[in-house]
Amino acid sequence: MNNIEKKLHTRSNSSCELCKSPDGLTAYIVPPKTDFNEDFSILICETCKDQIENPANITPNHWRCLNDSMWSEISAVQVVAWRMLTRLRNEGWPQDLLDMLYLDEETLTWAKATGEGDDDENKIKHFDSNGVQLQDGDSVVLIKDLNVKGANFTAKRGTAVRRISLVWDNPNQIEGRVEGQHIVILTQYVKKI
Ligand SMILES: [Zn+2]
Repeated sequence: MNNIEKKLHTRSNSSCELCKSPDGLTAYIVPPKTDFNEDFSILICETCKDQIENPANITPNHWRCLNDSMWSEISAVQVVAWRMLTRLRNEGWPQDLLDMLYLDEETLTWAKATGEGDDDENKIKHFDSNGVQLQDGDSVVLIKDLNVKGANFTAKRGTAVRRISLVWDNPNQIEGRVEGQHIVILTQYVKKI
């Protein structure tokens, strides 16, 4: 064991700094850092390492350990916690933890440096009734009759709505023109065409 590994073992009490497991511990240099020193590295177990490096092997429940370890004072641990929670955010509970996790600016920059969460970082995703992702400018068809609030008409099932725009702060709503009226439509009532 070299000096840095010794320091990591002392710091972590010879347990995984993410899930506390004592098994198969190795030092992990948190990318994109490459220098092997204790500030840029964490001590992690085989299970954590495998799931960090192979997203296909991920078992979300394993990462409930972050509930505790995300409060670590060590930046490198915070960075990995942030990345794994971001990767799992669609599970629901990781998003709740992320909402509580505060990283200082430098640490957050490090956490984002590998591109984790770039897809949906600043953007809410919209999906149609079949789970197909919608984009601004798409065309959709209504899958049921909709009473349009505030305008006295019913938008008929089968009506095509062209060049929709997404409601940026609400994943359940899009906007488009039906019979010359600009209306808000719930995504669950449309199908992309
Ligand atoms: Zn672990």
